[in-house]
Amino acid sequence: MRFSTRQIHSGVEPDPVTGAILTPIYQTTVYVQDSVDEYMAKGFSYSRSGNPTVRALEKRLADLEGGADCTCYATGMAAINGLMMSFLNAGDHAILSEVIYGGTYRLCMQIFKRFGVEFSFIDTSDPEVVRDSIQTNTRLILTETPANPTLKVTDIRAISEIAGEHEILHAVDNTFLTPYFQRPLELGADLVVHSTTKYIDGHNATVGGAVIARTDEQDQALRFVQNATGIIMSPQVAWLTLQGSKTLSVRMDQQSANALRIAEFLEAHPAVEHVGYPGLKSFPQHELAATQASGFGAMLWFEVRGGLAAGKSLMDRIELWSLAESLGSVESLVTHPASMTHSDVEAEERQRVGISDGLVRLSVGLEDAEDLLEALRVALDQ
Ligand code: PLP
Repeated sequence: MRFSTRQIHSGVEPDPVTGAILTPIYQTTVYVQDSVDEYMAKGFSYSRSGNPTVRALEKRLADLEGGADCTCYATGMAAINGLMMSFLNAGDHAILSEVIYGGTYRLCMQIFKRFGVEFSFIDTSDPEVVRDSIQTNTRLILTETPANPTLKVTDIRAISEIAGEHEILHAVDNTFLTPYFQRPLELGADLVVHSTTKYIDGHNATVGGAVIARTDEQDQALRFVQNATGIIMSPQVAWLTLQGSKTLSVRMDQQSANALRIAEFLEAHPAVEHVGYPGLKSFPQHELAATQASGFGAMLWFEVRGGLAAGKSLMDRIELWSLAESLGSVESLVTHPASMTHSDVEAEERQRVGISDGLVRLSVGLEDAEDLLEALRVALDQ
């Protein structure tokens, strides 16, 4: 079946006892066993190790990404934490995109480094730079594409090929495009990471995460860590995410259509210096973005003339767009990465990778594009 059907029906079925069409929120700690010998006959023992509502979401996301299975986590960061704990040991080396969510950078530099893991943050948009960064102890490449916040695109096929040649795992953070627009496993990646907090929930109602694995063996390694470290998603979050994900394709289509209109408007506005949106012909990696994804997403950035002061003034004044950290919801948000999402990345490192102090990030929502444009027009005129 096609994506829009599967996003509604995968992983769930009417409740066998009552016929309830929605999978219940299984709010329970334990599961009563039939007998000592038939322990786990129904598949569950304790909700840290597995929960039927969470399991339903795991099955849906595995299906949408085309993986063997999926594990869901308390947050997107818990998912990345679970990924690293499952596949990295002390003395190992990992390669990551240099433009990456600031929390991922912080997790590596301030936590995993303490446990003896080495990291290289490099320009993964250049496959040769990736090839040159591989060491004998490299075990994982984690790319984020398009990357937060500059939207730099990494060639998933090329990096997966290089990783495969060296028997290194390639994981892709697919938060920005979701499986509706981009399916990294089909392009050769081994693992896909999501902050489900973003488009998959889509309603600013939850924080959650997921890792989809190509093989059952990888999934088992992830599931062991999910249980051992207690980072599983809660049943209420899974339930809300099951509902939100049913409209993923409709939201992505409309939000990205809104984003293109806004990007074109900004590009033509005299108060705007630069605009970054992969759907614009002027975007340096527009062609690559078009070959590996079926849509360009609903994130964009711009810099206003007048730099940081002008950017701050716009973000403080603008109506309708909420000044907030997150992205991917039906509500449109405006974010200042340098002081918000990427504040834990050193100023020098931010400059080096193109996150200027004046960069304004937009997460385009599902409101009427005319209203969003009008609010931007007023703020820019001011
Ligand atoms: N990955 C990306 C691309 C993100 O943008 C974020 C959060 O903004 C995360 C991971 C972390 O997810 P969470 O905030 O759900 O922990």
